[in-house]
Amino acid sequence: MEQSNGKKHFHCKDVGYACDWQLEGDSEEEMLPVIEQHAAEVHNLTHFKEEAVEHVKEAIRRNG
Ligand SMILES: [Zn+2]
Repeated sequence: MEQSNGKKHFHCKDVGYACDWQLEGDSEEEMLPVIEQHAAEVHNLTHFKEEAVEHVKEAIRRNG
């Protein structure tokens, strides 16, 4: 995975799903709604709790 372009990355499996979906973006703020939509459509997670949002942000930070 190329990470030298300053982009942030999110991998769905980083938050515990057996899922290969990943996302690249410039900021957490930009990525979160897309991740939320993916979670709703693919994982039936219709309500994204604050706790889950923090979990996602942590995963993004770990990936740089
Ligand atoms: Zn997923």
